[in-house]
Amino acid sequence: MSASSETRALPSWARGLEAKIERDFVLGPLTTLKVGGPADWYYPAESVDDLVRALTQVNQADIPVTLLGDGSNVLISDRGIRGVVIHNRAKEITRDGNSLFSESGALLSALVERSRVESLTGLEFASGIYGSVGGAVYGNAGAYGKSMEDILLWIDVLTADGNREKVTPDQMGFTYRKSRCREKRWVVLSCLVGLQPGEQQAITDEINRIIGIRATKLPSDLPSAGSYFKNIEDPTAEHGKIPAGKLLEAVGAKSMRVGGAAVYEKHANVIVNAGGATAADILKLAAQMRRAVRDEYGIELHSEVRFLGEHQPDAEVES
Ligand SMILES: Cc1cc2nc3c(=O)[nH]c(=O)nc-3n(C[C@H](O)[C@H](O)[C@H](O)COP(=O)(O)OP(=O)(O)OC[C@H]3O[C@@H](n4cnc5c(N)ncnc54)[C@H](O)[C@@H]3O)c2cc1C
Repeated sequence: MSASSETRALPSWARGLEAKIERDFVLGPLTTLKVGGPADWYYPAESVDDLVRALTQVNQADIPVTLLGDGSNVLISDRGIRGVVIHNRAKEITRDGNSLFSESGALLSALVERSRVESLTGLEFASGIYGSVGGAVYGNAGAYGKSMEDILLWIDVLTADGNREKVTPDQMGFTYRKSRCREKRWVVLSCLVGLQPGEQQAITDEINRIIGIRATKLPSDLPSAGSYFKNIEDPTAEHGKIPAGKLLEAVGAKSMRVGGAAVYEKHANVIVNAGGATAADILKLAAQMRRAVRDEYGIELHSEVRFLGEHQPDAEVES
């Protein structure tokens, strides 16, 4: 088929997107787990305007749409994702007084580095967390007792009915690894994070210290999505949470494996793609881990990693 007839074959909702839209685009390589089948349609959005235009056109045509950030907290179905996957690559970061404005497709690591370069302190806790700024806001990403909700001043979202609204952190309803984005179907377009002037060497040292600690616990050589299950909220526990990894370790999870999916040897709450894993392997392993903790402690683990795409009849998916 020639390029011009290919263009003519595009549905009407894709008008104006033809330069970059692709069909049957395999998504696995875009995720940190390196697992997942094709999107019917794939569109990389390079700016916030591009993102809004693509989302608006697809929503108006009533086609299912899925937003992908940096793919570090998702497990994509072996059968892929029906409809359109929009890949957020709007990456601009600018300084505004003692705050940093960030488009949602910028990497959180780029925002941390920019804060260091600008000698602004407050973002060091996010050092070494994978993913985009939008993904971090969506899931209230965090570590070492701090999370995105602690530093956000405002968030620009696209609502489900297509309006752009500037919302406050209070309106985002942040809780542990959660925001209102999922239930409201808000897309994070950009945000402003509030920081304080700091000393560059101290900021650099803190970033290096945190990255050093993380390197001893998380795999850098094997594909993973970080912690697979959320910690269990318990006001009587130290820091208000029981680490899921502690329970998993106690039930022998580190020796569990299904196909190409295995539990990481240094951290019982991390599933790695040890080679050729499918989404079905990972789902089956996760179900085995959950079952072991339920049988031993009567505690239900909930997935932090989000399953996206077509249902897999061959494996149990937690909703
Ligand atoms: C090795 C490793 C270590 C990790 N350590 C941590 C950690 O310490 N703390 C932590 O919190 N997380 C951690 N994670 C998980 C991950 O880094 C975060 O959840 C990250 O914020 C996900 O961002 P993302 O852009 O990759 O999102 P994706 O995986 O692309 O998407 C995740 C979900 O967010 C939605 N989404 C993405 N962008 C937007 C947007 N702009 N608007 C609305 N919805 C959106 C997607 O639709 C999807 O449902 C780790 C991951 C890895 C691989």
